[in-house]
Amino acid sequence: MRLTAVQNDRAAGVLLATAVGDALGAGYEFTHPTPETRIDMIGGGLGPFAPGEWTDDTSMALAIAEIAATGADIGRGAGLDAVATQFRHWYATDPKDIGNQTRSVLSAAGPSAASMQARARSLSGRKGGNGSLMRTAPVGLAHLDDAGKCLASAHEISSLTHDDDQASEACRIWSFGIRHAVLHGTFDGVRLALDHLPRAAAARWAALLDEAETAATARVFGNNGWVVHALQAAWWAITHARAGGPEHLQEALELAVRAGHDTDTVAAITGGLLGARWGASAVPARWRRMVHGWPGYRARDLVRLGLHTAWGGSDDGRGWPATPVVDYAGYRTDRRATHPHDAGVLLGGADLLRAPDVDAVVSLCRVGPAPHAGEHVEFWMADADHRRNQNLAFVIDDAARTVRALRAEGKMVAVHCVEGESRTPAVAARYAVLLGRDPHDVLQAMPWAAPQPALWVAATTGAGRLVG
Ligand SMILES: [Mg+2]
Repeated sequence: MRLTAVQNDRAAGVLLATAVGDALGAGYEFTHPTPETRIDMIGGGLGPFAPGEWTDDTSMALAIAEIAATGADIGRGAGLDAVATQFRHWYATDPKDIGNQTRSVLSAAGPSAASMQARARSLSGRKGGNGSLMRTAPVGLAHLDDAGKCLASAHEISSLTHDDDQASEACRIWSFGIRHAVLHGTFDGVRLALDHLPRAAAARWAALLDEAETAATARVFGNNGWVVHALQAAWWAITHARAGGPEHLQEALELAVRAGHDTDTVAAITGGLLGARWGASAVPARWRRMVHGWPGYRARDLVRLGLHTAWGGSDDGRGWPATPVVDYAGYRTDRRATHPHDAGVLLGGADLLRAPDVDAVVSLCRVGPAPHAGEHVEFWMADADHRRNQNLAFVIDDAARTVRALRAEGKMVAVHCVEGESRTPAVAARYAVLLGRDPHDVLQAMPWAAPQPALWVAATTGAGRLVG
């Protein structure tokens, strides 16, 4: 399905923010952080997990996304079987963490989806764990062109391990909400999904969502290993975070972790919808630099898989995100200058991606993986105004703060876009503002610079907001 620039940003944010929430919550699992507890990617928890490492929630979501990203129909037939197989592959790696219900199914089921669903049906006792909801985010992403298929796939994939009406309903609601958020940039899809449930279930979930929106504390939903409380805790976090812009993502994820108990899962569920609403560009680089996990993936892999899932397995017109090198032949990629206020920051065009004399590259345009051993931090920024950049001021500020953080680590940094003409001078100007210097000096240092007015304004105003 062909998406707009901001829809692509939001599609790219779904798996990324799932993983970020998961990794953020991982260190607090089965605890109840106090208001004084600082929430960060501390690692530890049940794995124990490394700081920034995601858990089974994201790993299982990626197992679904790996199949969806080939363009397969994950909701039935061979595609659903492939998802089941991918779950078994993951299980065979002896994961650090796995839900009881999921283990009971994956340890005994045959290779097909039907045998997995039959095994799930055969289990006795309580079957409404949160283990299918925690991985449902890619289902919304895989069916942007068809709401009906989204709902049907959410049910079938939930049923692979969870034979439970409420688990299925929760997956349908959340997947639909994620799909809607990518397409429309609102959280309204969560409520709209109820129109597609049986009447009694819709009334029950409407009351549960009301309860989440009005509860004074998420501790009311403390039994959040149960799918109903997990969804309510996630919805509580989203509807109680106050920030009106992209910072809402960070605030709501922190609230999700503060809900306590199954912190990684509630934050992973919350993250899937937040990423769909606010986009990859709203996920701060501080977290993107850290996040990683099975099967050896980092942030850029989550963006690639998210886009391939949304695009039915295709790349864009430049072969991105699959291509190792984006071809910018015909562009002035060889421009290069030194930041007027910091000799440790190079500024220029795409040739800087291959600069041998730097320790970190900050990319502001579409590129392949950096071909050197240094760190590579990418930012989602179109060379255009707000209409193609949902979070323009946030991204420019985040990129400049990342430059500052990398410099504080003693790294020689290169900042580049395609020609170094607009995005790079904007971020360089913001870095000047962070240093308390005159951003206009950047234009002297880069005489070819011609930043888009919207980028320049975003970079050079809002200094009153600057804290930390
Ligand atoms: Mg987990």
